[in-house]
Formats: sequence, structure tokens, C-alpha cells
Amino acid sequence: MKAQDIIDLEGRYVLQTYSRPDFVLERGEGVYLYDTDGRAYLDFVSGIAVNALGYGDPEILQTIREQSGKLIHVSNLYHTIPHAQLAEMLVSHSFADRVFFCNSGTEAVEGALKFARKYSSTHFGSDKYEIIAFSGSFHGRTLGALATTSREKYRKPFEPLLPGAKFGVFNDLSSAQELVGERTCAVIVEPVQGEGGIYLASKEFLQGLRELCDAHHALLIFDEVQCGLGRTGYLWAHEYYGVTPDIMTLAKPLGGGLPMGATLVTQSVADSIAKGDHGSTFAANCLVAAVAQVVFRRVSDPAFLEHVRQQGEYLGSCLRAIQGRYPELIQEVRGRGLIWGLQTSVKALDIVSEGYKQGILTAIAGDNILRLVPPLIIERKHVDELTGKLEAALQAVAAEDKGK
Ligand SMILES: *Cc1c(COP(=O)(O)O)cnc(C)c1O
Repeated sequence: MKAQDIIDLEGRYVLQTYSRPDFVLERGEGVYLYDTDGRAYLDFVSGIAVNALGYGDPEILQTIREQSGKLIHVSNLYHTIPHAQLAEMLVSHSFADRVFFCNSGTEAVEGALKFARKYSSTHFGSDKYEIIAFSGSFHGRTLGALATTSREKYRKPFEPLLPGAKFGVFNDLSSAQELVGERTCAVIVEPVQGEGGIYLASKEFLQGLRELCDAHHALLIFDEVQCGLGRTGYLWAHEYYGVTPDIMTLAKPLGGGLPMGATLVTQSVADSIAKGDHGSTFAANCLVAAVAQVVFRRVSDPAFLEHVRQQGEYLGSCLRAIQGRYPELIQEVRGRGLIWGLQTSVKALDIVSEGYKQGILTAIAGDNILRLVPPLIIERKHVDELTGKLEAALQAVAAEDKGK
């Protein structure tokens, strides 16, 4: 089948919730993807911050082969080996004492909200149910997580959502002080906002939220679905801040491209959860849990994290150099580790589209923010290739802009 036939098939049968470019991706190798016409794309999207180890990683492929030969799925009605081992790995490398597995980021957030509600109702009664989130937040698309996602366009058509969700202003502690009180069950925040535009929390903000939560017996939830697991050059994005949460959500990179999410909690939260309170049919099945162990072991290696920090610093300096050459097009460059955002005066999607012609994949995080979240295994030469081609894309967009 030709690319156009596939695109027509998708257009005819798939519910139209995404707009996609006019090529069809077929295979990947390392940090490159190839379409059905054999064109190569240097990938700085990595399946939306999922493919930390890139494509075709031999250890992941070997693990899939071996584990799928033994056992793929038996449900959570039974004990299985990879599930228990993965839980131990996550707990022994984090603030948490226990972990609940699920299949996506939004489910991890749903779990976090449910666990917080149960903790709150158990200890303080049913009036303490409010959840405080922030401008620019993205926590998922299911009705609970959606209630804490700031973008109105995503929320409005589906109201009424989970009651009791309120929004403060990101990085404005006084706005949180006004909202957090005796009715507050939990505060949810991304230490580095992803979908909302790559905004880094300040130290004062996260430390202040920790103090506010403690003062009002509210739980602090860090949503590290996008910024966690090595993405910022730290195993957990919150390590940079010296603040620990009561609950943390993970997903995107955890399953190495297979669907997996996790909600990590302290023992004090765990104590209010009873058998039967929450569940999931597929969660942490043998295959995904075995692959996640490979991802976690590799990404948590201090040498690997050092690599992410080094490449991140280099990428940041290259992006700032580009900004210096195109100050009208790029207003700001933000990021840490290998999550970067460029604030653009033109539509970021126009840069993404020009990028396709140059053979690079980039994404947007809002109308005027270009987002770069490459596989964590990128090397200096890939950064050089990306920035060269990004600059060519910017030149094309600038020329078009002048022609208008
Ligand atoms: C992507 C994302 C989610 C939702 O994850 P899905 O797997 O798409 O449900 C939640 N929180 C953050 C911070 C995310 O980036």
C-alpha cells in the first residue's frame, strides 16, 4: 500500500481527534524514524517523551522475545515475577513506599486523585475534597484528570467534570495560598510542565507548596508523567528542587513504548487504601513489567543521567545560539536536561511542518511553543544535525512570513 492509501484509510475509518502530517512512519532505528517512502527523520519527539532508549534497542527486543515466550498476561488476580520486581525497583529509588500500576498517564493521575480522596475522607471526613491545580497544567484526558487540566478547550465540552477542582497560577505561590485551605485534599503540579509549554517550576514555588500542604493536611502530588524518569537529567524531576511529594505519577517512558503508568505513594497514603479500592485488568502484565525493568535499570544508572545532563546542556546552548540569530522569531528558550521549549512569534506548527521537509521531527506545546523531547540516548552529532536543520526550517518560515 502507498502512503496516500494508508492516509485515506485512516481518514475514512478512524475517529478524527488528531491531525497528522502526510507521511506514514514504518520503522525506526536508534534515534531515526523512516517513512514508507524510505525517508529518514531525526526524531526529537520520541513518541511524546516515551522512547527514552530510542528504537530497536537490543535489550528491549530481547526482553520482549524472552518474556512473551514465557507469559504475557494473567491479570492482577495472580502473583507474577516482573510485577513484584519492578515495584521494588521503583520504591527503592524513590521517596515512595508503595506503587500501584496502570496503563497510561491519565490513569496514573486518576489513581493519584482517588488515593488522595480516600486518604482525606478516611482522616478528615468527606468535606475535604478539593484539588488544586495550576495554569498551564496537563494531567490527562479522562474525566478526573481532565478536571485538573488547565486548558479550557479540552475541558469545557465535557463538563460537568470532577467537582472541587480549582486552578492557581503556576509559579505564583500567593495564588496557591489563596486556594489551599481546610477543604483542600491535594495539590497537583508538574515540576516541569510539558504539554502546557515547557515551563520550569521555581524552587520557591515547589517548596512553598510543600509547606502549604503540610500546614493544611493536604497531599502534594507531583505529576512526573512527562518530566520524570531521567528526562530532566535527574531520575525524578523533583530531585532538582529538594522537595518530595506524597504521591507521584509516572507513565510515558516507563514501559519502553508499551503502555504503562504508575502511581507511587508514601506508606501513610497507602495505609488508607484497602483491598478492592482500585484495580486494573492489564496493569503491569508480565511483558510490560519486564520491559519496564530494562528501561528503569538503564535510565537510573548515574552515568546515563550524566549523559542526559551533558547533552541537555549542549542542546540548550545550541538553541540559545539560534535564538541569538533569530531574535524576532524566538523569544525565549526554556528547558532542563532533554526537555526544551522555544517560545516563537510565528505559529510553532509552521516550524514543525518545515522540519518535516528537512527530515526532523519536532512537536508543539501550545500554539507558539516548539517542543523538543528527543530520545535520551541522543549524542552530540544528533544535536548538531537537529540544530542545523531546525535553523534551515526557521529560515524557510521567516522567508514565508516576510512574503505575507
Ligand atoms: C501525557 C501526560 C499525561 C497523560 O498521559 P496519557 O498517557 O496520555 O494518558 C498526564 N500528565 C502529564 C504531565 C503528561 O505529560
